[in-house]
Amino acid sequence: MSADLPEPTAPAAPSDFIRDIVAGHVAEGRYPQIVTRFPPEPNGYLHIGHAKSICLNVGIAHENNGRCNLRFDDTNPAKEDVEYVDSITTDVRWLISGWAEACLGFEPRGTESTADINYYAGPAAPGADSEPFFASNYFEALYACAEELIRRGKAYVCDLTPAETETYRGTPDTPGKNSPFRDRSVEENLDLFRRMRAGEFPDAARSLRAKIDMASPNIWLRDPLLYRIRHVAHHQTGSKWCIYPLYDFAHCLSDYFEGITHSICTLEFEVHRPLYDWILENIGLSRPLPRQYEFAKLHLGYTVVSKRKLLKLVTEKIVAGWDDPRMPTLSGLRRRGIPAAALRRFVIGLGVTKYDSLTDLAVFEHAVRDELNASSERRLAVLKPIKLVLTNIAEGEVIPCTATNTPQAEVPATRTVNLAREVFIDADDFAEVPPPKYFRLKPGGEVRLKYACIIKFEELVKNPDGTIAEIRCTADLTTRTGQPNADRKVKGTIHWVSASESIPAEVRLYDRLFTKADPDEGGDFLQNVNPQSLETVTARLEPGLADTPVGTVYQFERLGYFTPDARDHTATKPVFNRTITLKDAWAPRG
Ligand code: ATP
Ligand code: MG
Repeated sequence: MSADLPEPTAPAAPSDFIRDIVAGHVAEGRYPQIVTRFPPEPNGYLHIGHAKSICLNVGIAHENNGRCNLRFDDTNPAKEDVEYVDSITTDVRWLISGWAEACLGFEPRGTESTADINYYAGPAAPGADSEPFFASNYFEALYACAEELIRRGKAYVCDLTPAETETYRGTPDTPGKNSPFRDRSVEENLDLFRRMRAGEFPDAARSLRAKIDMASPNIWLRDPLLYRIRHVAHHQTGSKWCIYPLYDFAHCLSDYFEGITHSICTLEFEVHRPLYDWILENIGLSRPLPRQYEFAKLHLGYTVVSKRKLLKLVTEKIVAGWDDPRMPTLSGLRRRGIPAAALRRFVIGLGVTKYDSLTDLAVFEHAVRDELNASSERRLAVLKPIKLVLTNIAEGEVIPCTATNTPQAEVPATRTVNLAREVFIDADDFAEVPPPKYFRLKPGGEVRLKYACIIKFEELVKNPDGTIAEIRCTADLTTRTGQPNADRKVKGTIHWVSASESIPAEVRLYDRLFTKADPDEGGDFLQNVNPQSLETVTARLEPGLADTPVGTVYQFERLGYFTPDARDHTATKPVFNRTITLKDAWAPRG
């Protein structure tokens, strides 16, 4: 944003039931520091739903002089990849930069993993020589915790197959059945578990299970799996391990190792909470235990927020990749030109509740327009150019006009745009047979060319095929700024660019990716993909726009907000993405 632009009004300080709980703990001095975490599994790119979780976790840390660790929950190597680790790290840094990066918890590079069940991985300072936390860095300590559970008679090695385990578990209404291996001795369990680690058994031959209660009404407490055998390499630990902890076992203990005070997650984990507490309470840990709190996920109209579905859009080539500007991924939104500040304003403004609901896409678009209206400079561009000849301006004559870059600033910045004999206007701004109340250019009519002067229609010249070759007008140069008739009023004002000075550019006009507010309507979200979600036009831009740095968003007057494409734009072959229209283009369509 230019230094001379006013800051958009900051969103009000948020308040919600989780922040109330944290405030209570701060007031009673329960913890030396508030520590939260954002724990993505590196099996996909982050999406707009994750932005809500990041802003909540980072926000609470930020507001309480605390820390929020970025931790990869990387316990399922089969589905994970370093590509995702890298994209997630980039996206988190981007989302919170300029706001709360100082409280992002990283760990010193190259931290050794240890077999101490009371391992403590923090606090760490963010900095060049630090990296995110990884659950895989705790594999030794997690393994030690599992052995400790065995020694305490709270876990056992089970030889049931995955299918048998499923059957023995029962259903929500019928109790499960004890595994025949439930009463193995501590010695036998320790021996088998060590041999599992040593690689003596094939995948799924055995598992480690917690010994809780097969009759519990909570299915998650029916002797849940803690470790399984998986002879697959891991993106962080290579071939060191062939047994991997399950999410429920790794997550609560990773929270403990990092000194997390408030482990905030989404509602589907509410039923896991008794297990979260059971594991922590049955190992004999010495430091205060973290607690879990749940909130409702963000669901957004016309949008899918499931990594599985987003992956499908990518693999089925419905979009051009995870960062396709139509994707609700953070990388897609960034490439589309959505500022991080707008995303934060949106997700923070929604508040935090325990009730699932669908957020109207208009709320998101409103936040984006609010932000961009304040932060973007104005320029002129024509999306669907038709030629307009001003017959009373000589060929080669240039009439400099002053255009405003920042009408929102107290002292607006300006630039010069050159009016010439030939200009381009947008095809939409001319109607040969105008509907009633059409105030743009029409036969016999007058309009003002923004920042220039009033022009009067003279003649329409057509191609042999009936399309418009050019529109011929005369310019009333006495209506320019500073001229005697500058104040003369006409009903319509349209945008334009000089034909000789403007540059051609590929402009990608994006629309919603789905035609239904609920993309799952009818059962298959792929059936609801909007076939018109991308229209590409060859536009004409003011010449200065060729050098726009990636990340800069301009308002093209009367058209919307546009940004150079991060992958394809060059100064010699400009490619712009439409970030968003000026107003809800969908509203009139009902
Ligand atoms: P998906 O369901 O799409 O696979 P996930 O929840 O499994 O996503 P994780 O990587 O486990 O993805 O998510 C990291 C964190 O983000 C978790 O704490 C999760 O609760 C939170 N999160 C995921 N989706 C949303 C959402 N739509 N709104 C808010 N928070 C979310
Ligand atoms: Mg998950």
